[in-house]
Amino acid sequence: MGFIFDRKLLFHKHINHYANKALPTVKCMKLLGNLSRGVNPLQKCLLYRCCALPIAFYGFQLWFYNRAPMSYHMKALNKMQRRAAIWILGAFKTLPLEGIEALAGLIPVKSHLQKIAKRSQIRSFKLPKNHILNQLLDNSPHQSNSLNSHNIGSLTNRQKDLAKGHLIDSKFKSYGIFPSFSPLDPEFAPGHCIIDNFSNRFSFNLANKKEKGKNNHHAQELDKMVLQNSSDSNTALVITGASIKNDIATSISHIHSANRPLIKTVHHASFVTSSEAELFAIRCGINQAYSLNNVSKIVVVTDSIHMAKKIFNTGSHPFQIHSTAILSNLRNFFLANDSNSIEFWECPSKLKWRFHHEVDKDSKSFVVTSSYSSKISWEYCKKSDSDELIKLWKMTFQASEGKGKNFLELLDDDLNTVEPFYTKGGPWLQLFSHSNSLCAWATRAITNHVPIGEYRLQFFPNMEFSCPCNEYPIESRRHILHDCKRFSGYWNPRRDTLKNFVMFLNANLNAFAFNDSLVSI
Ligand SMILES: [Zn+2]
Repeated sequence: MGFIFDRKLLFHKHINHYANKALPTVKCMKLLGNLSRGVNPLQKCLLYRCCALPIAFYGFQLWFYNRAPMSYHMKALNKMQRRAAIWILGAFKTLPLEGIEALAGLIPVKSHLQKIAKRSQIRSFKLPKNHILNQLLDNSPHQSNSLNSHNIGSLTNRQKDLAKGHLIDSKFKSYGIFPSFSPLDPEFAPGHCIIDNFSNRFSFNLANKKEKGKNNHHAQELDKMVLQNSSDSNTALVITGASIKNDIATSISHIHSANRPLIKTVHHASFVTSSEAELFAIRCGINQAYSLNNVSKIVVVTDSIHMAKKIFNTGSHPFQIHSTAILSNLRNFFLANDSNSIEFWECPSKLKWRFHHEVDKDSKSFVVTSSYSSKISWEYCKKSDSDELIKLWKMTFQASEGKGKNFLELLDDDLNTVEPFYTKGGPWLQLFSHSNSLCAWATRAITNHVPIGEYRLQFFPNMEFSCPCNEYPIESRRHILHDCKRFSGYWNPRRDTLKNFVMFLNANLNAFAFNDSLVSI
């Protein structure tokens, strides 16, 4: 399997092997680009995350768990990440790790490991109940004639306190999660699926989101569809919608038939994602419409057509309990009559199509507070874990000295301090992503590793450190950015936002540059 064990189960050799195996990948990536040509910083970031990190983290469940000693492992992995960040940004080797990680849009190794460890802990939920891993996680007391003599339940309380490892963490994590997978349900059995047997009975009508002006066209089509079905009492029109406020989701479905509103259902659920709430609204709507008499056609209008498609998805996904319930209703509906059919229509909220807009408003009008503590859904668990880690990263980044004491605090468009995140390369890399030289240059300026008077004063006090404009005793970064006459090429007085900072650099190619080389972008 490629796991390297040692006598004390410290996994030093394992981590050395895989961190060193990923390092050559990082080193070889240098061939793909330098400061003037080759792949751009954003592509470099993506390459590192896709090609080097999976190698370095191979088998991390063996050594990354609660109460495991990890300083050695972190040192090896941080070294690798540091090299990657330097390559992505084209930065100097002396720059502090936390600063360049954030600039390159790379989440710190430890946080990244925490995130994937938490994901991996809840993965056992995907497995069928009789899977060997679930048997090991079984907490029921040991019976002498039981086959599962190695399950967690067979340990004494003291042994349970002392035991540590990935499976134990997984057990603790699993208490709070609501089971939503059902991989062995007969609805998903090969040859029995609705998608195989009744493929001509359901259809999807999507809105064209790419072309402008097509939205109205789609609203007209929806109106036309309602008009066609308005006189027919055998058609049930199901409009669904959902919204989330303070972690409480509201799922609403309205059913109309022959131009009359028939049934309204409202459900609340806590700690679910909006996608799950939307699917649940569809489930309720279909269930109600199916139980009406003389209905031969169901038309579902929803904002999240991707969730409607999940109903017919036979692969493993965390919405399977809803899918199976809907599929079993639909199967009975299709079997009852050969002409029974269902249509799904997409209706984006921004279209404000009157029927859907009404449901949308309705769903947002409820203010509910949860009274009981409840289990959370699988998807919600993933989302809240990763939100928590990003929040922690942002907080530690603000407070930490590790980013470098001269790290330039810039503001975003809303005049809040720019905070690190890793989607799409993070806030800094997004703005430098088109040019390697701009990226390297801006990194130097933000971390204050630039050949200006301030630097010479600290390291070479015998050299000249006043500003060549002769108006300021020390050529500091602040002076260059805000006051110096030499750099007036950029008109906007506001230079403390990230966007304006980049524009300032573009307008003043000799600012923060080495004397002998002007930056070319
Ligand atoms: Zn000056």
